[in-house]
Amino acid sequence: MKKVYLDNAATTPLRPEVIKAMTDVLNEDFGNPSSTHSFGRSAKNNIEISRKTIAKLLGCTASEIMFTSCATEATNFILHNAVKSLAIQHIITSKIEHHATLYTVQNLQKTYNISVSYVKILPNGNIDLQDFERLVNEATTQTLVTFMHVNNETGVVLNIEDIGSICRKNHLLFHCDMVQSVGKINIDLAQLPVDFAVAGAHKFHGPKGVGFAYIKKNIPMQPLLTGGEQEKGLRAGTEATHQIVGMAKALELSYLHLEEEKQHITAIKEYCIARLKTIFTDVKQNAESSFYTILNVTLPIDEAKAAMLLFNLDIKGIAVSRGSACQSGSAKPSHVLAEYLPNSELKKPSLRLSFSHYNTFEDIDYFIEAVQSI
Ligand code: PLP
Repeated sequence: MKKVYLDNAATTPLRPEVIKAMTDVLNEDFGNPSSTHSFGRSAKNNIEISRKTIAKLLGCTASEIMFTSCATEATNFILHNAVKSLAIQHIITSKIEHHATLYTVQNLQKTYNISVSYVKILPNGNIDLQDFERLVNEATTQTLVTFMHVNNETGVVLNIEDIGSICRKNHLLFHCDMVQSVGKINIDLAQLPVDFAVAGAHKFHGPKGVGFAYIKKNIPMQPLLTGGEQEKGLRAGTEATHQIVGMAKALELSYLHLEEEKQHITAIKEYCIARLKTIFTDVKQNAESSFYTILNVTLPIDEAKAAMLLFNLDIKGIAVSRGSACQSGSAKPSHVLAEYLPNSELKKPSLRLSFSHYNTFEDIDYFIEAVQSI
């Protein structure tokens, strides 16, 4: 059966070169990076080369990159540290954040009694910068700001340059979830007014189970996991050398091919929108302006068909994600769309399609045929 994968915001397939780099390490570099003999030194060397590669691609220094098991862990590390080590008592964020941020902030609020302010969301799905400035003006310096760069459900792009500048002017720390943008857009951490950032390799054609935190130099942090000196003592536990090497290779290739792949993905997305418009005159994009890899659309189909939409696409070998309402057995609407779409819109079926350079125009044709036949 033909398989079409249009869920690249959830995870991406590995590039063959990444698999090769990882298996080379698994085969030949099994040493413990903490061992002082040649096996250990070789593994350690691989980790430090990977750290330098990632740092160079993102415009920071190697010592500012800390490896973690995923972006969720990196966000937990930073936000918990903000409260425990940096005396943060107030967090400004938004309700369109990924649960990695939202639930961590809620947990900190419950455990440490910090206060949390949520910025207003505009009808276009982006954050209200004026409301953000108002919140900042009322805030003390014991406040941390956390916003994502690209929303994983809608593709809305937040203006992190302006957000960061406002933070800098007011001496506030800024944490940015860059999971959907790292490897897909040039990022220069030397220029961006960001203090903390996080990413996960599996979103840019690297392996699952590895990510990293960017922590601007001279910000003191404490370990959440203790028991070893790995990652400057901040994250104990034997490093997964093959994962780290795979992540660096994936990021390197993403930036090497960025322009051509971006062009291809943009063309695929535009083609998909155009084809959807030929079958549904009133198909609606849930974000007027969205990142080139993500398309969230509401489809004008009746409830009975909508309920089975994802299931029926799955039967045909097509992977997409639900966009909003009660599809695929979920009774809850998307917490992101619920922030800015009216109830009447939330009830309608929507889909999140997310693309990679592996997608072809034929994939889109197959998807369109499948939607038409449902
Ligand atoms: N933040 C965003 C915007 C995401 O899309 C995701 C994953 O879907 C995460 C955080 C969590 O990333 P990880 O799977 O690396 O923990």
